[in-house]
Amino acid sequence: MHTRGEMNISSRAQALSHSAIAEMGDLARQSAGPGARAVIDLSEGDPSFATPPRIIDEAVEGLRKGLTHYGSARGLPALRECLLRQKEFQGADYRADANIVVTPGAKFALYAALMCLVDPGDRVVVIDPSWVSYDQMIRLAGGVPVHLRTTAGGRFFPELGDGGSLASAKAWIINTPHNPTARVYEEGELARLLRAAADTDSVIISDEIYKDVVFDAAHVSAARFAEFRDRVVVVGGFSKTYAMTGWRLGYVVGPQTVLAKIAQFQQHTATCAAPFVQYAGIAAMTSAAVKDAVKTMLTEYEERRRAVQTAIDAMGAVDLAAMEGTFYAWLGISRLGVNSRDFALRLLREHDVSVVPGIAFGESGEGWIRLCYGHQGLEILRQALGRLGDFVGRLG
Ligand code: PMP
Repeated sequence: MHTRGEMNISSRAQALSHSAIAEMGDLARQSAGPGARAVIDLSEGDPSFATPPRIIDEAVEGLRKGLTHYGSARGLPALRECLLRQKEFQGADYRADANIVVTPGAKFALYAALMCLVDPGDRVVVIDPSWVSYDQMIRLAGGVPVHLRTTAGGRFFPELGDGGSLASAKAWIINTPHNPTARVYEEGELARLLRAAADTDSVIISDEIYKDVVFDAAHVSAARFAEFRDRVVVVGGFSKTYAMTGWRLGYVVGPQTVLAKIAQFQQHTATCAAPFVQYAGIAAMTSAAVKDAVKTMLTEYEERRRAVQTAIDAMGAVDLAAMEGTFYAWLGISRLGVNSRDFALRLLREHDVSVVPGIAFGESGEGWIRLCYGHQGLEILRQALGRLGDFVGRLG
């Protein structure tokens, strides 16, 4: 009810909730009182690395060149061309003037896609556990999230069995490499997902933001499957590959009809991704120096990943999902007799390390926590793993 002096908040906005990842970040900052031991943040999915200098130089040049005005809603043509030359899109006949829109971040690309594909009341399938923003964005679009539960035994891949609850879904959101479980879907798995969605006449939004952060596995894009291409929308971005989270640069690729609407949606909302940022994006994709910088980041992630593996193996009572891709470790804590939220809160309060409770990613995430090893250098990460080990030791 409207009380005087208070603004009437839309039901849409009332339904929004604070991201549990941001909440852990906030708590981590609050708990750093005077003289307190610094909290080590392993909750935020933000690379520890600085953006490679060549990208920064190019952005400055873009600014000097006057790329400081409105740009086309679809994005700089040269960047669109670069993006479509990526191996994921080769052979797909995507055209820079029809099948791609550059966006201010992958998040906005996902939101724009949902807004253009989902009608009020439409069901949207989400694989559980999943990144925290999908449900919120689906609801903003008026849709209803339908969670497909997964288990560690099933390698966090859903059972597609009877399809009963899926029959009426309008869209699916899939994500590979997967946040938070670190799974990278195999080609056959991806084909099964696409087949299941196609059988029920759903569209598939494939979030591939972590495509370059893979280790023992190869990333396969949903765009590789010619037979499903007319119902697949792929979202990607620069945040993770190039350590560019603050620049806000992403893209969405797919069928011409949807992309035309996404371009209009962007035109009337965000307008465009900042042109000088897009200009820097071209350098990110084409410069040899940046390629080397990305390689160095990946080598360091691999080293950190080994440190996580060694530390968790030594703890005994904690399970570790195979770290195939992303810079997250998905840790099973169900043998420790504490739920994921209490675990995360106590780890923060008693041992000064912040992680994200698995329940934040959906009900299948209970009994798990997400640890990000992308956000801290090796030395600090080792300290944090030591603190985690102390906590687990006390619980076990
Ligand atoms: N999808 C997933 C699965 C993510 O983890 C993130 C960032 N945490 C995004 C999308 C958003 O990326 P961007 O910074 O490009 O908006």
